[in-house]
Amino acid sequence: MSRFLIKGGFVIPVNGRKIIKDGCVLVEDDIIAAVGPLDKVQPKAAGAELVNAEGCVIIPGLIDTHVHLAQALLRGIVPDNITLVPWLRNWVWRLQGVYDSDDGKASAALCILEMLRTGTTCFVEVHLHKRYGFGGIAEVVEKSGIRGVLAKSVMDLKGYAADENILPAGMVEEREECIREFKRMHSKWAGKAEGRIDVWLGLRSAGAVSDELYHEAAAIAREYDTGITNHVAEVRGDVEYYRRAFGTGVSGFLEKFDMLGERRVYAHCVWLNEEDMRRFAATGTTVAHCPSSNMKLGSGIAPVSDMLRLGVNVGLGCDGGPSNDAYDMIREMKTAALLQKVRTLNPEAISAWDVLEMATRNGARAVGRLSQLGSLEPGKKADLVVVSLKTPSLHPNSNPLSLLVYSASGYDVRDVMINGKFVVRDKKVLTLDEDKVLENANKHMEKIVEKAGVRNGLLKTFISKTG
Ligand SMILES: [Zn+2]
Repeated sequence: MSRFLIKGGFVIPVNGRKIIKDGCVLVEDDIIAAVGPLDKVQPKAAGAELVNAEGCVIIPGLIDTHVHLAQALLRGIVPDNITLVPWLRNWVWRLQGVYDSDDGKASAALCILEMLRTGTTCFVEVHLHKRYGFGGIAEVVEKSGIRGVLAKSVMDLKGYAADENILPAGMVEEREECIREFKRMHSKWAGKAEGRIDVWLGLRSAGAVSDELYHEAAAIAREYDTGITNHVAEVRGDVEYYRRAFGTGVSGFLEKFDMLGERRVYAHCVWLNEEDMRRFAATGTTVAHCPSSNMKLGSGIAPVSDMLRLGVNVGLGCDGGPSNDAYDMIREMKTAALLQKVRTLNPEAISAWDVLEMATRNGARAVGRLSQLGSLEPGKKADLVVVSLKTPSLHPNSNPLSLLVYSASGYDVRDVMINGKFVVRDKKVLTLDEDKVLENANKHMEKIVEKAGVRNGLLKTFISKTG
């Protein structure tokens, strides 16, 4: 049996709102055996390997509820100042539409490297197109040690909201193909990699899915006892579209197709009204709040403090490389907190505790694993993050919670443990070859830019090899 005693430092278990000074965490194999003050836990830890965490904060692993693995390669390529639909049509889809499975794997490796390095231990990938190569991506998840929900994209139309036929050919999949691929992926990978991989249905945005396919997907999710994720009410026009197309608002649209409930995770939800929030809360439906993405694309500000007050399960998401442009949940916590304060003109609207819970417990509930993940408690899976405070921006060590949310970045993460195994030690990712992943990312970025034929357009804003 492997045993680790992570000792000293401030432990924030996110099990109630308490901080343990000079705390420690005892891990036995993949399970947390004890959490508490040193004098209480140390006597139980005979023979355990000691990990000194003095001057650090120990928190549960962070759970990113909305990620695009394939967009990591697009960071910096897509213009920064552009609204959602042209951003998708002229850039993101055009580039993603030329990926092959090697590009998909290189992008996933970059994204996962960054997530691990910055303390994310579990993520929800919203839609994997067949062309990204599901097998290669699942292999990266397996090898890296991270937990991942991998959702197969599901679609049968080529539009976005009222804009019909705007998806480029490379991004189009047929209904039968999507369903067949989901079933194949599910049978091959769900529950694999020591239970770290799950396979869900990732419906494409409204306008790309017919009514029949919504019904079919909901039925398949029930049959396979699996989750559904999607982008919902990201921009105001989405809500107008639901009204016109389905004669109802956001939650009415989801209810019509039986898509409210536990393990139903909807990204953005910027434009929910109070009735929507109440239905989300009553059904255990999750909002994956992506504040940086919403700000960058000018989509609006999700009413997160109202959602929390009404009991909605709100997780946090980093979204994608060109919309955030970082897969760093610690920075995302700060953005989420600041944004609610400015939305409400009220600094009391949301607390550091609220956002830390969003990034941990609420994420665990989103993926249907609150009994195993999301807090440091005996009997739960040993997914934890050690953040070093030994840096000027995290001194003095007065209030570790405030430092974590408002002063830290993901690059203050020192160690990451997932399922009882260290995947990051002393700021080094142990499971992936960092140099190789970075080198590959550049290589594949060049390749997709070339294949998509956007290089000439980029030269104005992008430093090419030839200058
Ligand atoms: Zn997204």
